[in-house]
Amino acid sequence: MSIIHTWLRKRVTKIIAGLLLLIGILALWGAFSFSSVCSRCGAIQHTTMWQIPLTETTLFRTSSVSETPVSMALLRIGITAKHDHQWQFSQGSGNGVSCALGNGQRLWFIVRSEKVASLLEASHKFGETSLRDRLVRLMFDLKTTELVRQLGLSQPANGFANASEFRRWQADKMEFYDDLIMMYQQK
Ligand SMILES: [Zn+2]
Repeated sequence: MSIIHTWLRKRVTKIIAGLLLLIGILALWGAFSFSSVCSRCGAIQHTTMWQIPLTETTLFRTSSVSETPVSMALLRIGITAKHDHQWQFSQGSGNGVSCALGNGQRLWFIVRSEKVASLLEASHKFGETSLRDRLVRLMFDLKTTELVRQLGLSQPANGFANASEFRRWQADKMEFYDDLIMMYQQK
């Protein structure tokens, strides 16, 4: 009887020790979460990488994609119907990292701008496709992205009533912005 008791006690002690170790590992489990911006359509991806604590070894990852005002506008216009997302790391933290920043951070505000989305849609609607395509290129270029955001903000509050109103605004603004764009591209 006592032999069985001793054997059982040892067995239970081992199981408890094993469980405690497992709980310890789980408590230290490192989750690194980050977001990225697609530099072709402006969608945003949120990813969590479950890593061995304080290492970069990833055991598994989960991610989800969400649309932004710009990505939805580009989809409606038909510019980004089919493409492979090109994710640019924006920001992340966790598993020993307090705040990591990447190039995608500079695209973060523009892709979420309703004003930029409406400017793209207006240029499409009024047949200004070369301006539209140029804005898309400049918007995803880190050197000029901020200028497109400013251009979006400079639209009339109520938008454009017709094509001639849009063209008047375009002629007026682009004269000023063309010089700035050239300057920023040479930086
Ligand atoms: Zn994309």
